[in-house]
Amino acid sequence: MSSSSFSSPFPPPGPSGPSGAGEGPESPICSAKGCRAAAVWVVAWNNPKVHTPERRKTWLACDEHREHLSSFLDMRGFLKDVVRLTEWQEQEGRQEKG
Ligand SMILES: [Zn+2]
Repeated sequence: MSSSSFSSPFPPPGPSGPSGAGEGPESPICSAKGCRAAAVWVVAWNNPKVHTPERRKTWLACDEHREHLSSFLDMRGFLKDVVRLTEWQEQEGRQEKG
């Protein structure tokens, strides 16, 4: 592997990132290209070449694409966690509330 650039097969979640403020009432959808299914899973990952260790990038996945997304990251050693979207939101809520 001479190329060190990490090219994602999926579109970026948005210009301001998945945790940007001002989320609308829409339910989140799967990050997989062309998939419009409701997201059920959060795939958390970190690329040590560009991210600090505590940083977490997240992809949303439906049931169908959870394994595809997580295995893609796992092959590169980037995969950190796969949790249900509801659990992820609970964790974030707890952190914000303190
Ligand atoms: Zn999907």
